[in-house]
Amino acid sequence: AETWESVPLAPPDAIYKLTGAYKEDAYPQKVNLGVGAYRDDNNKPWILPVVKKATDILLNDPALDHEYLPITGLPEFTSAAARLVLGADSPAIAEGRVASVQTISGTGANHLGALFLSRFYHWPEGTEKQAYLSDPTWINHFQIMRGVGITPITYPYYDPATIGLAFGAYLATIRAAPPGSVFVLHACAHNPTGVDPTRAQWTQICELVLERKHYVFFDSAYQGFASGDLDADAWAVREFVKRGVPLLICQSFAKNAGLYGERVGALHVVAPTQETAVRIKSQLSVLTRSEISSPPAHGARLMALIMNDAALFEEWKRDIKTMAQRIIAMRKELHRLLTEELKTPGNWDHIVNQIGMFSFTGISQEQSQALIEQAHVYLTTNGRISMAGLNSHNIRYFADCLDRVVR
Ligand code: PMP
Repeated sequence: AETWESVPLAPPDAIYKLTGAYKEDAYPQKVNLGVGAYRDDNNKPWILPVVKKATDILLNDPALDHEYLPITGLPEFTSAAARLVLGADSPAIAEGRVASVQTISGTGANHLGALFLSRFYHWPEGTEKQAYLSDPTWINHFQIMRGVGITPITYPYYDPATIGLAFGAYLATIRAAPPGSVFVLHACAHNPTGVDPTRAQWTQICELVLERKHYVFFDSAYQGFASGDLDADAWAVREFVKRGVPLLICQSFAKNAGLYGERVGALHVVAPTQETAVRIKSQLSVLTRSEISSPPAHGARLMALIMNDAALFEEWKRDIKTMAQRIIAMRKELHRLLTEELKTPGNWDHIVNQIGMFSFTGISQEQSQALIEQAHVYLTTNGRISMAGLNSHNIRYFADCLDRVVR
């Protein structure tokens, strides 16, 4: 028999397939709302001006070389990244309790965090290795967990009846889970729903997690991109750290710095003591060594420059606001078109209440399919749209099409 006869053909990745179909469509008014990356008002990728500036500085540095970074990454990058998410005045950082390592963007941080838990976490008595994921979640969470031998199970999160948070059922699952269970939480701008807990709800979640001695696996892929404010978007993470929840944070710079392809990220494990953090970091180093030896340099150098220079840091914050505010403006305009101009049946308040890149519209699979097939509007069939794909040129067309499929 031929050597690879038993290898089955894997299905294509749904999002990449959608992008492919969009690209092949010759219809002039086609709209891509599957895209998971920021687009400007002309539907073009946006290089942040601060990134352009930092690139010029970096490439004109005569001392720049292409040597390997340390296994755990560029120290000026990982330390600034920790301050960014935990706060510059974080006691955990001051006490040396944070083990930070550079990763292959947020995906790599999720993988390394999961791998570390799989090897070293003290799993609850009588359970297999398992992690609670929100229902729904970023689809890659499932494969990342399975890939390191952790069984993904889900907790209720989204309630289709209210197009909001299934808060009661969410809390009930936290309460019922065996003490010491691992919960994966989206730090802000939940993907794919755009539905985040309020601060009061976060506080309740935090208290219950503490009471049940659970472990929190924060996935932070959109800090700053959600509200336009880096600190506001890190509120939940900082609150959990302050209250002493044992946790780790997976951090991505893909969205908030527009560095998608550069793969810039970090994993931060907040430990109870400095001595524990040293041991944890030593093991993260061993795991990293066998997988990537050392992380890529360019993007980390860019972000280290931007985060460690007061003027560049301020400029970055302005660029982040530019992106977040355009997204928020699109939410308001879509809401206005549907409710005021078109008088589309139904309640559309969730469009403005949701946050971040994505919005769950609440439309059915059939209606989503109709948008793709009849209107050349590309979206995932769960009714999720990327607000970044809307702009002043196509939003009216999209609102008209949406109005037509729901009537
Ligand atoms: N987590 C979530 C929830 C995401 O939405 C994403 C990006 N789609 C990531 C992690 C990781 O993205 P990246 O590897 O590009 O940083």
